Amino acid sequence: MDLVIRNARLRGEKELVDITVTRGRIESVGPRLAGTAREDIDAGGCLVSPGFVNLHLHADKSLLGERMRPNVSGTLPEAIEITNEFKRAYEPEEVARRAGRVLEAGVQNGTTFFRLFADVGTIGGLRAAQGLLLAREQFQGLCQVQVVAFPQEGILRDPGAADLLEEALKQGCDVVGGLPWYEYTDADAREHIDICLQLAQRHDLDVHMLVDDTDDPNSRSLEYLAWKTMREGWEGRVTASHCGAMAAYNDVYAAKVIDMVATARITISVNAHINLVCSARTDREPRRRGIARVKELLARGVNVISSQDDVNDPYYPFGKPDQLEVALMMAHTAQLTLPHELEQVFDMVTTNAARAARLDDYGIAPGRRADLVVIDAPSVHEALRTQPPRRHVLKDGQEVARATLARELRRPGAPRRG
Ligand SMILES: [Zn+2]
Repeated sequence: MDLVIRNARLRGEKELVDITVTRGRIESVGPRLAGTAREDIDAGGCLVSPGFVNLHLHADKSLLGERMRPNVSGTLPEAIEITNEFKRAYEPEEVARRAGRVLEAGVQNGTTFFRLFADVGTIGGLRAAQGLLLAREQFQGLCQVQVVAFPQEGILRDPGAADLLEEALKQGCDVVGGLPWYEYTDADAREHIDICLQLAQRHDLDVHMLVDDTDDPNSRSLEYLAWKTMREGWEGRVTASHCGAMAAYNDVYAAKVIDMVATARITISVNAHINLVCSARTDREPRRRGIARVKELLARGVNVISSQDDVNDPYYPFGKPDQLEVALMMAHTAQLTLPHELEQVFDMVTTNAARAARLDDYGIAPGRRADLVVIDAPSVHEALRTQPPRRHVLKDGQEVARATLARELRRPGAPRRG
């Protein structure tokens, strides 16, 4: 064996286990395993989880906050306007540098899989996509990266975008993006979805769209996306992010759409912290929150995930990025606070997200890919509560990050050590 993690606490298990790794794969999992490895990590009873999965991150826009003018209204339209000012001058190498800083922080926080969204359209052409493809190459061995060809200015609304999407896929993008709700008319939104599904089928790729990211109860592209997914037999290969309009739907319509989403096996990425900041900006009180109906989705068996989405950009000024922080915000926003709900929240940044990306070799079991994170906490609850350091992060069985934090309380009057 190449590496062993001793005294690991796995979710839901009472007894500590050892995890052995050979050639990048988990070989065995069990208490007090015999044998020696070239590298020995003592987890000391800490929680060991498969690496975090972040399926929605605009790495091409990340850290523009360091240079941009402030988003005074805090709204999506102003964020889009500010981004466009930069996008006109994007250079792939510069995009890759900003993306790289964010990937580096993400890996240190235990994320081993990222799905990066690259704006593709007539303003920035393919330069954002080329930048993120470059970052994907530069981070080989540190984390797994997918790049989404994402039509941020729409497809019908931005003549020429469809051809650019096709070209971005040819140049190596892995996922077909979409933004149907942003089109001018309902008919265009439906055509947008048709075009994306055609691209996905032609290239045999998964789809990840940003859907109904608005407070408008009439924004109904999720319904059509679910129908189209079923019609085209693309079940289990589509993810829809945001879907905040669901919060404004009447209960009967929301229940119908949720049922369609479940049947189409669409994953919903609820990036709750982003919507808390960007949605319902023009509401007086009571102020809506613009969050998809998480508990209803979970109750209907929909695969729900949560992602970082933005890191210090025109949409959102924060983001470490850390999927444990994302999960904590999700717990607050969706009011998921019971013991089993905390586990559900943790699933959203681990197993559910892996299912959405169809990572069949994800998890802690023999034969699975050894992408692991040792979290300095004894349980999911404590991990969420204390947001502790990630002691070790492994990608394909290699340690790619480690953290130590020495903290000490100094009681006045007590003798000082050291
Ligand atoms: Zn987004």
